[in-house]
Amino acid sequence: MTKLLNIARQYCGNWDAGKCVGCVFYRKDGQLTYYVNSKLSGKNCSVEEGCEYFENIVVPGIDDKRIIKSIGA
Ligand code: SF4
Repeated sequence: MTKLLNIARQYCGNWDAGKCVGCVFYRKDGQLTYYVNSKLSGKNCSVEEGCEYFENIVVPGIDDKRIIKSIGA
């Protein structure tokens, strides 16, 4: 397993045995809501090809600076 996939496995709430649940959370009118992204849902984790959810939501929530440094974020 590659480093990015391993980080996604450890930290991404959408990770499900290598598949992506595809839930994307966002705020609308001050309320937290979500939708299921059909481009991600049920497919293999695509973190290595680039994943906005990983970059914008997962990575900022990682508190281990060594992991952040290792991926150059
Ligand atoms: S594709 Fe993105 S959102 Fe889905 S499991 Fe992988 S890192 Fe998480």
